[in-house]
Amino acid sequence: MKQTTTRIAIIGGGAAGLMAAATLAESPTASNMEIHLFEKNSYLGAKVIISGGGRCNVTTGSALTNRRHDIEQLLTNYPRGAKFLMSALFRCPPQSVIDWFESHGVPLKTEEDLRVFPISDNGKDIVGALERTLKINNAKIHLNTNITSIEKVSNIFRLHTRASKLASWGQTGHEDFDTLIITTGGNAYRHTGSTGDGYAFAKALNHTITELAPSLSSYITVEKFPAKISGVSFKKAGLTLKTPTATYTRTGAFLFTHKGITGPAIFALSGMAAYDTPTNGNPLHLTINFFPDETQEELAARFQNLANTHGKKQLINFLDIFLPKSMCDIFIDLAQAPPDLSTGQLTKELKTRILQLLHALPLTIINRTPGDEFVTAGGVPTSEVNTNTMESKLQPNLYFAGEILDIDGFTGGFNLQASWATGRLAGESIASK
Ligand SMILES: Cc1cc2nc3c(=O)[nH]c(=O)nc-3n(C[C@H](O)[C@H](O)[C@H](O)COP(=O)(O)OP(=O)(O)OC[C@H]3O[C@@H](n4cnc5c(N)ncnc54)[C@H](O)[C@@H]3O)c2cc1C
Repeated sequence: MKQTTTRIAIIGGGAAGLMAAATLAESPTASNMEIHLFEKNSYLGAKVIISGGGRCNVTTGSALTNRRHDIEQLLTNYPRGAKFLMSALFRCPPQSVIDWFESHGVPLKTEEDLRVFPISDNGKDIVGALERTLKINNAKIHLNTNITSIEKVSNIFRLHTRASKLASWGQTGHEDFDTLIITTGGNAYRHTGSTGDGYAFAKALNHTITELAPSLSSYITVEKFPAKISGVSFKKAGLTLKTPTATYTRTGAFLFTHKGITGPAIFALSGMAAYDTPTNGNPLHLTINFFPDETQEELAARFQNLANTHGKKQLINFLDIFLPKSMCDIFIDLAQAPPDLSTGQLTKELKTRILQLLHALPLTIINRTPGDEFVTAGGVPTSEVNTNTMESKLQPNLYFAGEILDIDGFTGGFNLQASWATGRLAGESIASK
């Protein structure tokens, strides 16, 4: 008996779409499918290529197995969508992602902070491995093809593209598919092609979209002193962000910028507070503890011991035991200490003020750096999608994967990991139908 061929469309050739397509193309049932990947850019994986500063932080080495404890630990890195992601991550934990790329010719390395990169430090190798897999397995890649709208006509998905493309789409100006995977990504770094088109497609197919917000951003401060120490970084500080509704804490690395503050711990806080938009009128309040491993009392005792031994030193030369040299005069200003004071002359009040600043330097956050967020919080509600298959609960044979879902993670490889895992799960589910 002749097998019927299922026509599958995947819109978006980013991380999730490429992994979904590669999974389908390599599946045992691939010969029964026609796989079409549509990408509006002239090349695949624009965002994957620029991710991780062009090196592509493919995944994380922090929780490699699919043992329950590892997966639960991994899920703490997703402010939204963690529960929903569990199933996809059980099936495709970071080690599976690593194994996939290594077995497809891209050796990877895990750095000290547990971020995983290609040994070549070149994100193009990651996209190259996926693209090769599609070509070897006869998946059809349609570049420069901007899908403009989708209709559901009885049981099929009808895709429309721009007029200039109509010639290759036959007389009708549209193409019909049995199964559709939407992997158009979010709304961040729009010049990469991820302009939120998928949200409109999802709505046209009766889905709702949760409120969207930028996540993983740098912050702009009222205080101007960061400009003087722009680039000064700290490997480990305790950061506390107070919003009108919550208090978030994070210990990690950060650095000052010419307008404020950035770095992994700030990105994480901005992710947790994605829906709290800082403004001049409604600022967020950040404090920095430069010594998160010491209590206030321990720091005070150490400070006093050192002050006793260095009594003759000028305060500015004493403070550099605790802070980078370039920050000492800023601290002296903030503590309102006379600049030429010697350490032995420190009054109790001054000492208390300095210790307070070392343990909780306040910064007033009035904005995110516009347009620099890495991901979009919000998207297709996870309640509308089957967690075990990525299939829509509203439309049979419609699937979602990647950033278009209401899932986002911290920096460190967690967003790409979510895209690979959900893309893989969508592909596996379709292949096993
Ligand atoms: C600067 C930057 C650095 C990052 N670094 C990291 C990192 O190191 N590690 C990490 O884990 N995450 C990182 N991220 C986040 C990560 O890159 C994304 O979360 C991930 O790429 C999302 O994958 P996706 O497949 O869902 O969407 P995308 O990768 O955004 O892909 C969506 C694709 O769909 C295409 N498309 C959209 N609409 C249409 C349409 N109408 N027709 C046809 N095609 C369409 C787009 O052109 C795009 O290629 C970074 C993000 C940015 C912006």
